[in-house]
Amino acid sequence: MHKLKGGLGAVSEGLAEYFEELGGELRLHTTIEKVLTENGKAVGVELRGGERVTSGVTVSNLDHTATFTGLMDEADLPADFIYAIKQIDHRGAYVQMQVALEELPEFTEEWSFLNEGEMRGQMGIFNSAELLERSWDQCRRGKVPDDVCVGFQIPSVLDDSLAPPGKHAATLFAYHFPVTAPRSEHGKLKDVMGDRIIDKVTRYAPNFRESILHHATFAPYHYESMFGCTNGDFTHGLIHPEHLIEFRPVMGSDGGYRTPVPNLYMCGSGCAPGPGVTFLPGYNSAHAILEDVA
Ligand SMILES: Cc1cc2nc3c(=O)[nH]c(=O)nc-3n(C[C@H](O)[C@H](O)[C@H](O)COP(=O)(O)OP(=O)(O)OC[C@H]3O[C@@H](n4cnc5c(N)ncnc54)[C@H](O)[C@@H]3O)c2cc1C
Repeated sequence: MHKLKGGLGAVSEGLAEYFEELGGELRLHTTIEKVLTENGKAVGVELRGGERVTSGVTVSNLDHTATFTGLMDEADLPADFIYAIKQIDHRGAYVQMQVALEELPEFTEEWSFLNEGEMRGQMGIFNSAELLERSWDQCRRGKVPDDVCVGFQIPSVLDDSLAPPGKHAATLFAYHFPVTAPRSEHGKLKDVMGDRIIDKVTRYAPNFRESILHHATFAPYHYESMFGCTNGDFTHGLIHPEHLIEFRPVMGSDGGYRTPVPNLYMCGSGCAPGPGVTFLPGYNSAHAILEDVA
């Protein structure tokens, strides 16, 4: 994985600039409440507050579930299509911690090689395929994995402008948050999982827990409210083997770009080959639109 100076936000800012240079009008912090249809065809969107924006082609980069069950009337969609959309697996269960560190973690014993050079910029503690499998099983049963698998990045090792002199800024993320547990328990489970993430790193770098000055922990419900993704699933639908390539996100959808509603297209991570910051679903979607409207 590459790291960008200025962080991922710099990519969004660059894209926004390019889009506006090409004559696009961008409205940030604007919520779409509805995809508008007339005679079964998409004709634009309605914003929160009631303003209507009409268009020849409407494109959504929300996940398919949020688009078709949240922004549209299910009765206007073919029953087999909406049934398939409701089967998309949104257990992309993820916890992320942002931490401010007094000092860098010092790895010990056979892991001390990680203290060299820029190795601490990007690490992962996944142990084994068996452990990942066990974590997923615990997650499916609504339990916090007993031994979490952790991605750990300290970008200030690569770019010292990201933290005050001598201090560091780090991100930890762990898979398999128990999203199937009752929603009322998620806050408590997030704290348990955060503590296990810190424990896990401290097992390999004993000074880690004590070096944390501040931390903020985000669970799927935060991502759901921040980004509108169903269940907080940043993958826009887990990729099971039967949902690869043209079967993403559901069988028969040919990559997910076209929809049963004429003039409505999809371009986000729910399309092939999402998820991730690859731009490929958007690129493929743009080609599908050009093919249809040209
Ligand atoms: C913590 C975290 C770390 C990640 N790390 C990586 C990584 O290291 N590498 C990588 O490749 N991928 C990573 N990902 C995954 C990656 O961010 C996603 O796959 C990617 O952002 C999906 O892009 P998208 O444009 O399809 O959808 P999104 O990024 O989900 O964009 C959807 C947009 O629609 C907006 N929106 C939602 N509802 C509405 C509405 N009703 N009206 C108007 N706007 C709305 C949202 O605010 C959002 O801006 C990470 C994700 C998370 C959450």
